[in-house]
Amino acid sequence: MNLLVSIGWVLAADVWDEDLLTAYDLAREQVLDLLRDQFPEFEWEMPFVERRVYVPLGALDPLPLLELGAEEKIYRHWDYAIVIVPNELNPRHRVFTIGVPSSALEVAVVSSARLGRGDELVDRLGGLVLHMLGHLWGVGHALRGPTRDVESPEFFHIDTFPEDVREEIARHLREIADARLEEQKPHWGRISFYVRTFLTDPRGILEDIWNYAPWELPLYLGRLTAAAAVSTIFFLMTAEAWEIGAHLPQRLILWGAILSILVATTLLFFGQNLSTITRVRGLREQIARTQLVLFGTLLTGMLFLWIVIYVVSLGVAYLMPQEVVATWAGVPSPRHLPIARYAAFMASVGVLAAALGGNLEEEEDIKAEILFDEET
Ligand SMILES: [Zn+2]
Repeated sequence: MNLLVSIGWVLAADVWDEDLLTAYDLAREQVLDLLRDQFPEFEWEMPFVERRVYVPLGALDPLPLLELGAEEKIYRHWDYAIVIVPNELNPRHRVFTIGVPSSALEVAVVSSARLGRGDELVDRLGGLVLHMLGHLWGVGHALRGPTRDVESPEFFHIDTFPEDVREEIARHLREIADARLEEQKPHWGRISFYVRTFLTDPRGILEDIWNYAPWELPLYLGRLTAAAAVSTIFFLMTAEAWEIGAHLPQRLILWGAILSILVATTLLFFGQNLSTITRVRGLREQIARTQLVLFGTLLTGMLFLWIVIYVVSLGVAYLMPQEVVATWAGVPSPRHLPIARYAAFMASVGVLAAALGGNLEEEEDIKAEILFDEET
């Protein structure tokens, strides 16, 4: 029996333009034909459903569209979902974007706004959807085929995957299918389930975390970084803080650092509802893996932030008038100033402040940074 792969298409806008609807349907059929041709070892289905939630006017944010797709995907037991709208999509880092894949959610959003009309639209839309599916299946940009990184929407067209990419995709689909069979095993404790999920593919999970470039998180999240900066400046300028920091035992400072990073990560993870990325109940390896990657990304981001605050505090503390600071800290002379220790203390407090400030961050910002694979 062949494995069934179902990819649902969700029309998310209230489109009544016959030409447009016909083009969507043709693109769907052509993509389906191509996949059936190229991957005969799988069974393919592509149901089309309408969720006419948005007016087909103005630009839309990709994130709620992705979440809509994830909902449909789970409700209808699909493996993947493609959400399609005629609207423009609001870009975050680019001038414009016509598609946003999220391999974490296994959903992609595509916009037909810049793809022309008629046969051109069918071909470009099909090509764009294949590109999105490539990302959902963990394929990076290739030199040829649909996963090629193109500069302009006109260059997308329906094309077969090159043989090596085809193999990579087939392997990925089989692995996913295996994982989904395993999850039927009942009675896994929560912790042991996560540990086991990590142990099945530690390298892959660490690579995924690395690919998210977690050190860039503080750059994108203004409120989080501002909260860290404000607390650091405040602590550098406060006599009492120097006095406390200078007299804390070394071991306490070390534990404080570790704990602060863990607590900050946990606060962000649960505060931003990243723990509930999908509403499926029970433990599924796929979801557990995504959550591990998200947690790991935040953890690395917080660790990086700690290091940055530490280095900055160290520099500033050296530049401050040492006599004054020594009086604040209550040590006999500037030579006795425990500057490195104090910088570590400030970094820990700064990271905690960042987590609290980060939870003021628009939930969408953190989610989008973490869930979007790219803006195509
Ligand atoms: Zn791409």
